[in-house]
Amino acid sequence: MKIKLFGTGAAEGFPSGFCNCSWCQIARETGGKNIRTRTSTLINDDLLIDFGPDTFSHSFFHGLDLRKIKHLLITHSHHDHFTPAEIANIHPPMAESNKLRLYGNDVIIDTMERIIDRLKLTERLDLQRVYSGIQYAADSYQITPIKAVHNPNEDCLLYCISHGGKTILFAHDTAYFKEDAWELAGQHFYNAVIMDCTSLETTNYNDVHMGIADNVKMRSHMIDIGIADENTAFISTHFAHSFGPLHERISPLLSDVGLIAAYDGLTIQV
Ligand SMILES: [Zn+2]
Ligand SMILES: [Zn+2]
Ligand SMILES: [Zn+2]
Repeated sequence: MKIKLFGTGAAEGFPSGFCNCSWCQIARETGGKNIRTRTSTLINDDLLIDFGPDTFSHSFFHGLDLRKIKHLLITHSHHDHFTPAEIANIHPPMAESNKLRLYGNDVIIDTMERIIDRLKLTERLDLQRVYSGIQYAADSYQITPIKAVHNPNEDCLLYCISHGGKTILFAHDTAYFKEDAWELAGQHFYNAVIMDCTSLETTNYNDVHMGIADNVKMRSHMIDIGIADENTAFISTHFAHSFGPLHERISPLLSDVGLIAAYDGLTIQV
């Protein structure tokens, strides 16, 4: 499987538009890998996870071809992961495109159903309501949603995705897993894990996000229980501006503890 991360910032992106903190000032001056847009991640060429407010621009600046996407998995309704008005651009006369199947929790599907009704999108968008612990087939992909530790008012989902004998765990946004998540995650062996590292040196941010220490704990636990090993790629992402996610600063911090610091455009083959 090929994994390409298009957006590696948190909700506000980096540098944050209205922010003048020293981290954001350095990011503006240096650019490159210090520019972090909002999340979406491509698997091979046809499965996209999340559709944030920058996904449209990824189709210009990072070679994302939205016309090839057949399956769109949404994790939760926070705006950096789900921009329904942009997804609605699939309808004519905005686009001539293939049909897209969108997978999400009740909040996501209810939102999309209202848009479909208004814009008559039924011929372009197929909606699949998904639930934690139930496995779904998406052509040659096997997808299992796992409930995240993120927002008590919504079943925020993480995704375990298998394809061609390889399996990845897409684990943001979430705090460190609780027992029920480990029970589901424990049913596979992972070749790659993409993890919430919003707060970097700050641990367990507001009980809804992770930092480096939590990612280290995730990695150790997964290796200990035999669902990952030294060859598993552990990628940390979703960095918030206030924790200083300058790539050159955080990359050694993460690589010293066996983690890969994501940046916009990072591609990994597993
Ligand atoms: Zn987020
Ligand atoms: Zn800032
Ligand atoms: Zn979130």
